[in-house]
Amino acid sequence: MSFSNINEIGIKCDEIDALGGISHIFTTKNGGCSEGALSSLNMGINRPDSRENLINNYKTVCAAIGADYTKTVLSHQTHTANIKIVTEEDAGKGLYLPSDIRDTDGLVTNVKNIPLVVFYADCVPVLLYSKDASCIACVHAGWRGTVAGIAANAAAIMETRFGADASEIRAAIGPSIGQCHFETGLEVAEEFESNGLSSCIEYKNDKAYIDLWRANTEILVSAGLKEENIFISGLCTVCNTDKFFSHRGLGADTGRMALMAYLV
Ligand SMILES: [Zn+2]
Repeated sequence: MSFSNINEIGIKCDEIDALGGISHIFTTKNGGCSEGALSSLNMGINRPDSRENLINNYKTVCAAIGADYTKTVLSHQTHTANIKIVTEEDAGKGLYLPSDIRDTDGLVTNVKNIPLVVFYADCVPVLLYSKDASCIACVHAGWRGTVAGIAANAAAIMETRFGADASEIRAAIGPSIGQCHFETGLEVAEEFESNGLSSCIEYKNDKAYIDLWRANTEILVSAGLKEENIFISGLCTVCNTDKFFSHRGLGADTGRMALMAYLV
């Protein structure tokens, strides 16, 4: 097991944590103050939650990893493959300050102490880290973003803008819907087939079951990452609704978890 708990509020990838220079967390749904379907550690700013609850939840998570919640950067996620390069002037956008970061599902930066945040509840969170080039990316990869190659887009920006070597980039794939529960129609499977990802699909009784963890791994390997540098939590959000928010497992009004990471 290459992931370990951060209290009850999250997990971290030990291999990435051990490199130093980065602090990160994939949150659970526990240990916060939101109520009802958002109980309790809702991190989604697009949910019907109070600002007070959100700020308190962000403070709890930030305290656990030593982050400054007033500098967190969130985007308006719309299942694109678009990546935003975050600079000093973006610090605080999305939670503490109004945000102009629209139609963006991945954030990349080489600036220290700016926590990048993506949120999700079944979609796949991907963390990328280049220790040598000192840059990170946080990616929200639903099936559309996965097929569109958003994880590879983030790795490419780390290479071209910040001089990272893809073979040295580490990746962590956090809690999200597993192949066990990601049943789709055949039209979705076709999208994966036509993008060279047929090995990620299993067909049973006219239904397709797609392995988004495998798909993102293959996409990252195609982008130059070494497979042994990609770490998968293996935790299915639908299988573990006691620990994670899940759109499929708990309904459309469920809360959102966060991947948060910053360069130390
Ligand atoms: Zn499952």
